[in-house]
Amino acid sequence: MARKSYRIAVIPGDGIGKEVVPEGVRVLEAAAARFGFTIEQQWHDFACCDYYARHGAMMPEDWKERIGAPDAIFFGAVGWPATVPDHVSLWGSLIQFRREYDQYVNLRPVRLMPGVPCPLAGREPGSIDFWVVRENTEGEYSSVGGRMFPGTEREVVIQETVMTRHGVDRILAYAFDLAQSRPKKHLTSATKSNGIAITMPYWDERVEAMARKYPDVRWDKQHIDILTAQFVLHPDRFDVVVGSNLFGDILSDLGPACAGTIGIAPSGNINPSGAAPSLFEPVHGSAPDIAGKGIANPVGQIWSAAMMLDHLGEREAAAAILSAIETVLAEPALRTADIKGRADTVTCGKAIADALG
Ligand code: ATP
Repeated sequence: MARKSYRIAVIPGDGIGKEVVPEGVRVLEAAAARFGFTIEQQWHDFACCDYYARHGAMMPEDWKERIGAPDAIFFGAVGWPATVPDHVSLWGSLIQFRREYDQYVNLRPVRLMPGVPCPLAGREPGSIDFWVVRENTEGEYSSVGGRMFPGTEREVVIQETVMTRHGVDRILAYAFDLAQSRPKKHLTSATKSNGIAITMPYWDERVEAMARKYPDVRWDKQHIDILTAQFVLHPDRFDVVVGSNLFGDILSDLGPACAGTIGIAPSGNINPSGAAPSLFEPVHGSAPDIAGKGIANPVGQIWSAAMMLDHLGEREAAAAILSAIETVLAEPALRTADIKGRADTVTCGKAIADALG
């Protein structure tokens, strides 16, 4: 039987993206060798600020043709604020991918791994283990609005939240499906319907309607203010947490911070239909302060590779990468300085590839 082959667009981007992406690819190759599939790598040098310096844009006009139709995109980090403002680099690259490929789910695991110092006292590895599902295409991040009477005493600034039934229902269906697939089968919806009187009651209404289709999933809703407090006080109580674009954005940074360092956290920008490629990237940015030193933690990128393989249906390989990460994180000589280890980026990446066997 022919080996399965996956076409992966590899985009290192800026700063430490260039250092951690090769480690992610190293581990992908090791997983492919062990589990009998092939990774067809297509590297791209755009979607980064070096490209902007040479061409005056983050991506070529024909970027869609150049990327073609890969099975997934493996992304590093974008941004180099010293030369390109963050909103220019972000909107010129990642946001283009999210929109073109309708990656309406932003998915982040929150898990306390062995060897990772937890900022919350008394937490054991494994005691924090949940997913944050963020709506990634509409909601509070719309460009509907504007300024009236700019620069005057009468200045008024308005920005609208846009929720569509299609957009809300599809993210809720994804989150309920995910909750249903997990042992605890529990979903928490982030809301603020006691203060935001039009869109959030609508969100709650759609949650209730969706919940009726999943009678085996227990669910609750919590206002975003108390929910953020609960993340810190009782992170063990969560299983799947779903939020609108803004609330999901906040929770998906708070969650990984509660479980240690952003250096190890992965994320997926997912189009669950499979009609367009999904994009997998670490939660961290390009980290200009440590770029070029070879000390960046590659685990967020490597865990993103595991999420990508899981999305592609290589469940066993994904699980094996996670267990290799756990093995390596437990050993101080193999983890990087941000989590009190002594290894450099390459040593840590190689150790995870080796642990895959
Ligand atoms: P962005 O807005 O693009 O997410 P940012 O400026 O908010 O970027 P990062 O670039 O992620 O944040 O960096 C935040 C801090 O975390 C920096 O001090 C950086 O050195 C550190 N950091 C980020 N990623 C890593 C990593 N993989 N390994 C070690 N330290 C990291």
